[in-house]
Amino acid sequence: MDHYAVIGHPVEHSKSPLIHAAFARQTGQQLEYGKVLSPLDGFAATVADLQARGYAGANVTVPFKFEAYTLADSVTERARHAGAVNTLTFRDGGILGDNTDGVGLVRDILDNQQFALAGKRILLLGAGGAAEGVLGPLLESLPARLCVANRTVDKAGAMVARAQAGGTRLDAAGFAELTGQVFDVVINATSSGLSNERLPLPAGLFADGALAYDMMYGRETPFMAFAREAGVQRVVDGLGMLVEQAAEAFFIWRQMRPATAPVMEMVRAL
Ligand code: NDP
Repeated sequence: MDHYAVIGHPVEHSKSPLIHAAFARQTGQQLEYGKVLSPLDGFAATVADLQARGYAGANVTVPFKFEAYTLADSVTERARHAGAVNTLTFRDGGILGDNTDGVGLVRDILDNQQFALAGKRILLLGAGGAAEGVLGPLLESLPARLCVANRTVDKAGAMVARAQAGGTRLDAAGFAELTGQVFDVVINATSSGLSNERLPLPAGLFADGALAYDMMYGRETPFMAFAREAGVQRVVDGLGMLVEQAAEAFFIWRQMRPATAPVMEMVRAL
């Protein structure tokens, strides 16, 4: 029996144990997946303790994704681009770090929402850990334009400066500069939904047939309400991303890809 856990602070709310238990049942894998509350100043010790107890790996959530990146002995290319790690694999006494958030988001949009990103104009709201994690995979989907807008504009600028744009027009902005601009996809990667705050976004942001995506899940956020009021038909929360990033972590650990649709249905029904 292999053991895994999600490490966070807070962690009580995490749905990862339920999701991984469902994946294990579905694929006939023998594993146990729990929750570990780490002290804010004790992440490295928490990881060392799990390693000593023979755990096979762990997921990492708020606020430890950046610390997990520095703690890992080696990281994958996509984790290096993100500068953050959400999946740890313990192997031969070492720690391999990966980041599955970006691929989780892109898979949810492309496969579950059946919404193509190639050639589209994407607005990414936020420049924190979640936005960093998804920027690389979003660029790989070859949008025509990707604009990162953040309350603290300098952070969006720094994020854009570090990224490899390829053929995409990549730029940074403050919310006020978005007036008069139109996007096919608007992704809310800010944590403004947690405090129920409305982002100061201008009217006229959404193109016809646009997708509005909030990475938060579990309830209607002010951003989702704003999109509906603007007439957007396709308004989606981050539950699909959550399940898809978990499926990618499961694949890293078990080399098996679980079906995600029934698990999303199960979590949504809770
Ligand atoms: P961070 O704390 O790293 O970043 C927070 C971001 O939100 C910053 O860009 C910050 O702007 C912005 N922000 C916060 N409050 C406001 C506000 N009132 N008005 C405008 N901007 C604001 O958080 P994360 O990036 O880790 O998480 C962001 C969200 O993504 C969370 O809601 C989280 O739950 C969700 N998430 C969902 C996942 C999923 O699987 N569905 C996976 C990962 C995250 P500034 O820089 O100016 O402070």
